Amino acid sequence: MTPSVPPQQPELIEEIARLRDRRNAVILAHNYELAEVQDIADFTGDSLELSRKAATVEAEVIVFCGVHFMAETAAILAPGRVVLLPVAEAGCPMADMITPDELRAFQAENPGAITVTYVNSTAGIKALSDVCCTSANARAVVESLPADRRILFVPDRHLGEWVTRDLERDVVFWPGFCPVHQRILPEDLRRKRDQFPAAVVLVHPECDLPVCEAADFVESTGGMLRRIAELPAGTTVILGTEVGMINRLQRARPDLVLIPAGPDLVCANMKMTRLVHVRDALLHDRHRVTVEPGVAARARVAIERMLAVP
Ligand code: SF4
Repeated sequence: MTPSVPPQQPELIEEIARLRDRRNAVILAHNYELAEVQDIADFTGDSLELSRKAATVEAEVIVFCGVHFMAETAAILAPGRVVLLPVAEAGCPMADMITPDELRAFQAENPGAITVTYVNSTAGIKALSDVCCTSANARAVVESLPADRRILFVPDRHLGEWVTRDLERDVVFWPGFCPVHQRILPEDLRRKRDQFPAAVVLVHPECDLPVCEAADFVESTGGMLRRIAELPAGTTVILGTEVGMINRLQRARPDLVLIPAGPDLVCANMKMTRLVHVRDALLHDRHRVTVEPGVAARARVAIERMLAVP
């Protein structure tokens, strides 16, 4: 049988466990991280689940295996803790598609509008926003806002278009997108359906609107987990999201056949972190992520408004 980890990994895993105890640390890993990292993490989840966890854990050090904006959100929600991002270069192209100056100009062009910001955004953008949202609650957040006010939805145009598609709302979308989910095309789904006619097609709302409309279900990460829990054993599921999610879903339902919707659905930034980086983060205290207190306070207000939406 092929070992699941190369021979040098068991020593590394033990060293990480020792360092984690010595530093009173917790290791959080996003669903899109490599399996080797997910396997040693204390908690695995989407960015908001992990941020919530960061806010409630008692550990002094949080090793956030994900991308930069997620570690920033953890630093905002867990003031006083040391937040470490093992690979400093792990960023999110979508979060970087809008700068604070661009958002200020967008707001100036739309006076009186309410800014709704997807949590996949930098702390500087959250701090300029009225309310945040996740892929799971974006629709509820929009519906909670006064009907006569224009909404600026940033930075993910696809998520915004999907959740407001049948709402009578005045929404202006920032033209940002996730380059990984944008790769999925309606033709990909058609081809897979021809190949697997009995399959269920499940996609993330960061996909383009025609892809969402062609799917059987459009779900956030948490929604995907709930949805697959209901499927009969042996069902084939075509998944329109980052391939790392297959690992998480397959652990929950080993009796399903999970197939990516298209080729190359890999977020390179989410695959940068290896076990050696986690070890070095704990050993050398790298790379500390901090958010300027004024920015953090304003960003926290936008996040807390989101959390208050039923
Ligand atoms: S999968 Fe997309 S949204 Fe998530 S970190 Fe990668 S580029 Fe950003």
